[in-house]
Amino acid sequence: MNLKVKEILGRLHFFRSLSVRIFFIILIVGIVPSIILRHGILMNYEEHAVNVKTSEAQNQLKILANHLINYGYLQDPSSEVINAELNQLSNLYDGRVMIIDRNFKIIKDTYGISQGKTMISEEVIQCFKGTSISKYDANNGYIELTTPITSVDLKMGDEAKPASVVVGVMLTSVSSDSIRLTMDTLSRKAFVIEMIVFILIIGMAMVVSRALVKPFARVTQAINEVKEGYTDEQISVSDYVETEHIVDAFNQLLNRMKVLDDSRQEFVSNVSHELKTPLTSMKVLADSLIMQGDVPNELYKEFMEDIAAEIERENKIITDLLSLVKMDKKEAGMNISVVDINGLVELILKRLRPIARKQDVEVVFESIRPVTAEVDEVKMTLAISNLVENAIKYNKEHGWVKVLLDADHQFFTLEISDSGIGIPEADFDHIYERFFRVDKSHSREIGGTGLGLAITRNAILMHRGSIKVSSIEGEGTCFTVKIPLTHLA
Ligand code: ADP
Repeated sequence: MNLKVKEILGRLHFFRSLSVRIFFIILIVGIVPSIILRHGILMNYEEHAVNVKTSEAQNQLKILANHLINYGYLQDPSSEVINAELNQLSNLYDGRVMIIDRNFKIIKDTYGISQGKTMISEEVIQCFKGTSISKYDANNGYIELTTPITSVDLKMGDEAKPASVVVGVMLTSVSSDSIRLTMDTLSRKAFVIEMIVFILIIGMAMVVSRALVKPFARVTQAINEVKEGYTDEQISVSDYVETEHIVDAFNQLLNRMKVLDDSRQEFVSNVSHELKTPLTSMKVLADSLIMQGDVPNELYKEFMEDIAAEIERENKIITDLLSLVKMDKKEAGMNISVVDINGLVELILKRLRPIARKQDVEVVFESIRPVTAEVDEVKMTLAISNLVENAIKYNKEHGWVKVLLDADHQFFTLEISDSGIGIPEADFDHIYERFFRVDKSHSREIGGTGLGLAITRNAILMHRGSIKVSSIEGEGTCFTVKIPLTHLA
């Protein structure tokens, strides 16, 4: 059973090949017309030959019918002349002639078998009524004809045009063997021609089907070369529009992969660099403590505090990196629930107010209406926290941060504006890049990792939302976040 399924699958696999399909299409397109043509021609010939033979025999029989009347054969079938004529006719057509009189009696049968018998068949009755028929029996190889024997009846009709009456019927069988013979010869010849055509078409189908799919094999080969690493060039197979499309799509994919690879390498080198910086600082601090013999207690404490700060920084970078990696896991990681956004923002601000207070920054929350939305609470908290934290971090003394929450029937909008240092317009597109900082040393000083906005943007995109920034250097910045109220999976 299992074997059978495998066998069928194997066969189907064979038919899934494009060259095999082209081969069969050419084969069918080439051979079917030639078969139809052969049959058409033969059938046409047969019909034509039967018609010719029928009308030829019919003419002869009509002449003979006249002779029969003239010789009064129906009354006295002993006429030598007519009998000779009848025999000649039946020899000529390799057939049989029977003459039937008005009483349906067979007065002459050239085979001499049925003479004197009565013949009441449908064809004979029809013929007496004036309808002569001809019937071709291909299986038994003969054509059957009925010919009326008519004589003029002076008593009927008018004088100028006396009526003719059917006084007898000639029932004739004409052999169609000669037609069959010609047909057989023709058929044999046509078959030979057909076989030659068949072989030629198979050959042509094999060559053409292989040639037609060759460009696709070239595409595969070119892609394999890239895969094996022989080349990282753009590939080109322009034989067909279709192969060009495939190759174009592949080249685009290749470019994207190169960009991804570059950005991955850059990310790894950035990560290493960022992680190394606090370690280097710690090493310098520890080394200087070791090198100095008698370290005063205060200096020792100060250095240890610095080391602790660097450890804290290292920890923050790792935490941010982990958040970012988790975000990259896409939709699968979403934990959607209906969240009171007003409550969520209040909670975030409550947590961040102590930091703001330290920097003498006032944090204000304004809500136009109560908002509930389907979001991942943890990710949304992370996104909003990062934005508010930045607004506090990159602010001025006695500055302010304002959070404005509004919603329509589809989205809720959060505007986080500050009176801070602002962002140069040229950097608007870069601030979401991992490890990007407008002022590296300033950001490091205030504990930035350069990952905050990357995390924020990922979290927002996972909610199918958007983030926009507007800023005037030295005056302040405003981030606008728009999130759908209902989560679209
Ligand atoms: P960081 O951890 O350094 O804050 P982010 O990814 O959160 O990293 O931000 C990237 C950079 O964008 C920051 O280093 C800072 O230069 C700039 N930035 C972000 N938010 C603000 C803001 N509210 N005001 C001014 N600059 C900002």
